[in-house]
Amino acid sequence: MDSINLLKKLPKMDKILSDERFAGFGRVILKEAATRAVADARIQAEKGKEPDIQGIIEHTEKIYRDIEKGSLRRVINATGVPIHTNLGRSPLPECAADELKELVCGYSNLEYDTESGKRGDRYHHVSEYLRMLTGAEDAVVVNNNASAVFLVLNTFAKGKEAVVSRGELVEIGGSFRVPDVMKQSGAKMVEVGTTNKTRKADYDNAVTQKTAVMMKVHRSNYEIVGFSEEASLADVAQSAREAGCVSYYDAGSGQFIKHLPDEICRDRTIPEDIASGFDLVSFSGDKMTGGCQAGIIVGKKHLINKIKKNQLMRMLRVDKMTLAVLQSVFRLYLTGIYNEIPAQRMISESIESIGLRAAKLAALTGGEIIATKSTVGGGSCPLAEMKSFGVAVKIKGMSESSLDRHLRRWETPIIARVGERVYFDVRTLDEKDFGIILDALGALK
Ligand SMILES: *Cc1c(COP(=O)(O)O)cnc(C)c1O
Repeated sequence: MDSINLLKKLPKMDKILSDERFAGFGRVILKEAATRAVADARIQAEKGKEPDIQGIIEHTEKIYRDIEKGSLRRVINATGVPIHTNLGRSPLPECAADELKELVCGYSNLEYDTESGKRGDRYHHVSEYLRMLTGAEDAVVVNNNASAVFLVLNTFAKGKEAVVSRGELVEIGGSFRVPDVMKQSGAKMVEVGTTNKTRKADYDNAVTQKTAVMMKVHRSNYEIVGFSEEASLADVAQSAREAGCVSYYDAGSGQFIKHLPDEICRDRTIPEDIASGFDLVSFSGDKMTGGCQAGIIVGKKHLINKIKKNQLMRMLRVDKMTLAVLQSVFRLYLTGIYNEIPAQRMISESIESIGLRAAKLAALTGGEIIATKSTVGGGSCPLAEMKSFGVAVKIKGMSESSLDRHLRRWETPIIARVGERVYFDVRTLDEKDFGIILDALGALK
């Protein structure tokens, strides 16, 4: 039969939609699924394949189920990178998810003071904990750290000058460029020093009548090594004090506790940043902190108050969900059980403990244990390489790239590391994930 006649045999939409197996299906998704299934059958018919009604109906159901699942799904992170931006950055502690459920599926005192019966402050719920955790006088939380940078500069340096080192004019993944953010905020950027060397005197010499902020930026995913020098946090804070302007540090990832030794990561902690005399410090909620997306600003009370009064605050304000998660995560740090924070646990896990898990996975899969190195991710400690173990697998007759594709397209996608071999870096794997890996590999046998 020629393709014109085959096309005539394609079923009418109504015929598919009214099939009894679709009783109780959502009509919008069903229509979409049937349209796609018929379009596929049309392509096949044009190639000379006879339309098969039953096949089209089954295909419709398959597409329906796929759409119904949604496109945002859980994946298994076998990359060994704990703070993997493309995989959702830090996973949340289970207890934070439990508390979140309790708080957001009903009403809460988000902006209500139960003592006085009057309106309360939504940021109060996290600022107390942040004060205790960092030693700062006060705190506020916004949408993410990018907005924190923008908000701080806009509040204090709009129409004025902000001094920053040339060595810190970085771009952070996802096109966040320090010079561009400064410009957008209305601050006039004054660059000091050179790419590899900036001293306190450079900051001192840049001061004019219009200097409003001295900013320091964590270089995030980039390091200057070799012949280099940078003014310390204390130096910049001192220079700002002498100039009578605000000192602000964009700490990037930020960390409350230091796990990695100095040889691997020289990053200071947020309490140390505050202790060095900085007026304001901001950092992300979902990098080393191990919570959800948020920009956390800590520092001097009168400056935080000014930030809160900026109209932009209303645009950047966070939801109860963010505050609920951060409250739980901060509490875990304060009570000393931060090992329940997955990002913290993965970064601090001993190589022996990773080795035990690798041995289990190797025994289950018949794979080979290999020594490897993981990075922290999220622009935290870019040069840090943590020893880890991987389990390499090989499927007879299958190339590395086909195996990788099979794993990625598995029902629960498995994101492995692919080099000369495909392997699972065990640092970011939980034993609970092993069954899914086994199923995916088992399907190839
Ligand atoms: C990650 C990062 C940001 C952006 O933070 P988000 O929370 O992702 O918006 C800003 N500055 C530095 C130095 C960073 O490392």
